[in-house]
Amino acid sequence: MGKQVEGTAFSVELKISKSPGTYVAGEETALLEVVEGRSAKPRQKPPYYPAIQGLYGMPTVVNNAETLSNVTHIIREGVDWFRTFGTATSPGTLVFTLTGDVNRPGLYELPLGTSLRELIEEYGGGVCGGKQLKAVFPGGPSNTIIAANQIDVALDFDALKAIGSGLGTGAVIVMSEDACMVQSAIQYARFFARESCGQCPPCKLGTAHLSEILEKIESGQGDEKDLQQIEQVCGMVKGRGYCYLLTGASIAVESIFRRFREEYVAHVQQGACPLVGTA
Ligand code: SF4
Repeated sequence: MGKQVEGTAFSVELKISKSPGTYVAGEETALLEVVEGRSAKPRQKPPYYPAIQGLYGMPTVVNNAETLSNVTHIIREGVDWFRTFGTATSPGTLVFTLTGDVNRPGLYELPLGTSLRELIEEYGGGVCGGKQLKAVFPGGPSNTIIAANQIDVALDFDALKAIGSGLGTGAVIVMSEDACMVQSAIQYARFFARESCGQCPPCKLGTAHLSEILEKIESGQGDEKDLQQIEQVCGMVKGRGYCYLLTGASIAVESIFRRFREEYVAHVQQGACPLVGTA
């Protein structure tokens, strides 16, 4: 039973706006654009930081539904209760979205600080088909990929930062030993190219160019110059968009490339995917 909250009764006006459902529409300033009746295109920051100049030019707090649902529980049960979950610096729970090569993909609400191994092996039922784990994006593709030998890391903001990655929104993507890491990078590059709203030239051109280079390597037509270009393009475009999509795209591709460079080299040297026929 929750505690009764004392205070003055008040009412709020609730207005629901329908999102177009695109990836970039989740960006906070794109959300504000939608609420104001325009298309979901992120605003340039500065000057349009929502806390200063948000909805209709007024200071605005933008939070997701998960955060707002936590507020309800914190007000009802108290801060100390909330802090009994999670770690000292990452209190509470998070809804982890577990996808990829696992037996039981799904949404799992767990205390922050739960180990990545526990999420994959106990909640997710392990890697599909009894295969070996190859790599994991612990916080969605916009946060650096980690290798199989790093899965004892705690799923909290500090622990993942300490190994050079991040928790993001808790979208955990699992890849088995059968995953071709050139093919994986192509999927992400294509996704970001498709989801780019197109208003920043480095994003529109950069994400498309990354897809082309990766497709060339994957088809066996790539050469040493293409390998060099992956890092060059990622380095050039990072941080050059109005929103994080472009940086996220370059992190996804660059981190896969750096961690699994030998697979890219093998594609170039063999003129084909070295994993074909090995599954
Ligand atoms: S970085 Fe890409 S998605 Fe973000 S505003 Fe610019 S063009 Fe749109």
